[in-house]
Amino acid sequence: MLRLPYFQYHAPHTVREAADLLALAPGESMLIAGGTDVLPNMKRRQQVPSTLIGLRQIAELRQFANGDGLSIGAGLTLTELIRQPQVRADYTSLWQAAAQVATPQLRNMGTIGGNLCLDTRCNYYDQSYEWRKAINFCMKKDGDVCWVAPSSSRCLAVSSTDTAPPLIALGAQVTLVSANGIRRLALSDMYRNDGIDYLTRQPNEILTSIHLPPLPGWRSTYWKLRRRGAFDFPVLSVAAAVRLSPDGTVESAHVVLGAVASRPVQAPEAALSLMGQPLSDTVIAHAAHLAAQPSRPMDNTDFSLIWRKRVTRDFVSYALRELRGDDVRALRLKVARKSFVP
Ligand SMILES: Cc1cc2nc3c(=O)[nH]c(=O)nc-3n(C[C@H](O)[C@H](O)[C@H](O)COP(=O)(O)OP(=O)(O)OC[C@H]3O[C@@H](n4cnc5c(N)ncnc54)[C@H](O)[C@@H]3O)c2cc1C
Ligand code: SF4
Repeated sequence: MLRLPYFQYHAPHTVREAADLLALAPGESMLIAGGTDVLPNMKRRQQVPSTLIGLRQIAELRQFANGDGLSIGAGLTLTELIRQPQVRADYTSLWQAAAQVATPQLRNMGTIGGNLCLDTRCNYYDQSYEWRKAINFCMKKDGDVCWVAPSSSRCLAVSSTDTAPPLIALGAQVTLVSANGIRRLALSDMYRNDGIDYLTRQPNEILTSIHLPPLPGWRSTYWKLRRRGAFDFPVLSVAAAVRLSPDGTVESAHVVLGAVASRPVQAPEAALSLMGQPLSDTVIAHAAHLAAQPSRPMDNTDFSLIWRKRVTRDFVSYALRELRGDDVRALRLKVARKSFVP
């Protein structure tokens, strides 16, 4: 049985209190929300904070407000989020992504804030301490070489959050609070393509809320590739959002890929190719081809990287066909049952 290392625990009741505690030793303390990522990581000694600051007692992190768009408290569990009818109706891709994270038990504990700050993943890193020691560790923790690309000076661990790609495609912003102040930024700017230093969030900052604009006339969807249909991290995901004119012409579009880099990857050229066009088979095929260009999966997660890149094109095409109104239930079943996997 893997045991947790010793640590100090604080359970503040306000964001201010939490920020002050974090400011005491930001490099050595970590925040814990649901704990579904950080606790397994601590058991495997991937993360060894001397202090954990629990966020579950902070009521202001659990607020959900809909008015001019949505304001989602970072401490809302994924279960609480998917129970919001407005999320399902107006921000469908976010609902689909949150509903596919892990298992019901993990969604009951796991929060949206924790999901957005999830550690990056790699086959050589997500292992027990003994396993990692047997290969002399790796650059991300305790070692100095990258086993995926030994000549790389950068860790290539994979961004595996399900909810970030759809939130970015929907134009989300986030609020970060520290003892020094508050800042608000586009969610896409919270990520960096570096498997170790994957967030621009500073160690003394708390993600307090996620903001979504009102999106009248928009449709969105999320497609996720994973080994086990019941639960698994994404090894490729596609989030697409489009606004269509009454005659079916694309007025605005966003395509974002997940699990193909150390951060969610936007595909602006694919989105641009859709502008002013009807979602015909030809237009979709061209956009899917363009979207697959920035998809550069590495050989450090499930399935072959060449196949995952090919599936990027297929998933973008499925997503856009769904958004134009095609019945894609058979395709969804095929993906869920893995009859899709070669
Ligand atoms: C078996 C298993 C399967 C899983 N499958 C999936 C999956 O399919 N898709 C997926 O996306 N995830 C998956 N997860 C990961 C995890 O369960 C979810 O991502 C969950 O949403 C994490 O939320 P949490 O509140 O538990 O995060 P925690 O474990 O509490 O925290 C995660 C990270 O975020 C930081 N953090 C938490 N809250 C804040 C905040 N408010 N401000 C700043 N930093 C914060 C923590 O310091 C930590 O670094 C899986 C986990 C397990 C164990
Ligand atoms: S990509 Fe390389 S450095 Fe990063 S976790 Fe994997 S093996 Fe380690």
